[in-house]
Amino acid sequence: MSQDKPHQNLAIIGHVDHGKSTLVGRLLYETGSVPEHVIEQHREEAEEKGKGGFEFAYVMDNLAEERERGVTIDIAHQEFSTDTYYFTIVDTPGHRDFVKNMITGASQADHAVLVVAADDGVAPQTQEHVFLARTLGIDELIVAVNKMDIVDYSQDTYDEVVSEVKDLLNQVRFDTDDAEFIPVSAFKGDNVAEHSENTPWYDGETVLEALNNLPEPSPPTDAPLRLPIQDVYTISGIGTVPVGRVETGMLNTGDNVSFQPSDVGGEVKTIEMHHEEVSEAGPGDNVGFNVRGVGKDDIRRGDVCGPAADPPTVAETFQAQIVVMQHPSVITAGYTPVFHAHTAQVACTIESLDQKLDPASGEVAEENPDFIQNGDAAVVTVRPQKPLSIEPSSEIPELGSFAIRDMGQTIAAGKVLKINA
Ligand code: GDP
Repeated sequence: MSQDKPHQNLAIIGHVDHGKSTLVGRLLYETGSVPEHVIEQHREEAEEKGKGGFEFAYVMDNLAEERERGVTIDIAHQEFSTDTYYFTIVDTPGHRDFVKNMITGASQADHAVLVVAADDGVAPQTQEHVFLARTLGIDELIVAVNKMDIVDYSQDTYDEVVSEVKDLLNQVRFDTDDAEFIPVSAFKGDNVAEHSENTPWYDGETVLEALNNLPEPSPPTDAPLRLPIQDVYTISGIGTVPVGRVETGMLNTGDNVSFQPSDVGGEVKTIEMHHEEVSEAGPGDNVGFNVRGVGKDDIRRGDVCGPAADPPTVAETFQAQIVVMQHPSVITAGYTPVFHAHTAQVACTIESLDQKLDPASGEVAEENPDFIQNGDAAVVTVRPQKPLSIEPSSEIPELGSFAIRDMGQTIAAGKVLKINA
């Protein structure tokens, strides 16, 4: 991909079946990012099955399926550009681990489009994803009120849905001035790329215009090197090669680095990126590298590599703000689910429930609550059962958020407020 425009990572969020895939398909299609023959092929397939007009969702299904089969697909399929930006869709919607990936995944979203079906309004996952977007620090939302075609492009229905969504945003302290609402049919194309004649009562931006006018993503920080380790290989002729993605800072040959919590380190001898040797790597780069004196059994997945002079933090206990999204009962002190933070998965005990927060004002609603449940936001103290490298999200947001998983699903998400020791 060309680098002449700023890059934005975009998340498409919203309740299942509200039209996320269809909107992505439409955006790719309208920006010329899916070849016409692919669309044609799916149109024929859809018509044969008596589902004419479903081609955009088919395009997305097909891409997801190809990816699951491990077939290499042209990355351009999930990227599109407007006049000002290149957009990458962060994870394909519909992917089951979307929520977890959104939190711990390779690329965090800069902005999000929330899709809400006009005929259904705010639904459970609308709520869950909005909570999540807020916790993860997405400050602006484009809200596509979708499926306007099946509510006869009714302005009253649109206004009702807008007001429901605004209530939800208020609940999680999202400034509704930072949300832009657009009546859309992803299926028919209304107000996606072109202003629709079906909504004469709406004179705002189309989805593409809104995307085009988003603020620029914040510039890279001057945070120290943080490189969570994904895997560790042994390669003949080189030796031990940890691989991972540089989240912040720079990795240079000759640097003295430290792996935490394994607590080993040495001098960076070689760095490889895309099968080529390089002398430095920066945020977003996937690298394999070799460190003098560090062997395969010294380090593991979940370690974080940083400068020896400013090593990654290892938390004995930490305080975090969490949002409970889908727990079947209640969470009490002593609960020990698995925390997923960057590449690490560590069982952690929620030692104490310190404060329950009022979602509307963010103020403390209750000190030391006995339990918390779905929809609650709370400040908690967490003790990892094994050493875990994690950072305060105010200092290094990339290493400061986590998902909490139990019973095969993401039950809560959070960010680190402070490291206690
Ligand atoms: P997702 O689960 O949010 O990704 O939803 P999909 O994009 O798969 O859409 C779910 C269903 O709604 C599919 O049958 C779509 O064809 C249909 N759909 C999506 N957008 C629209 C729309 O704007 N109008 C109509 N009538 N149907 C839509």
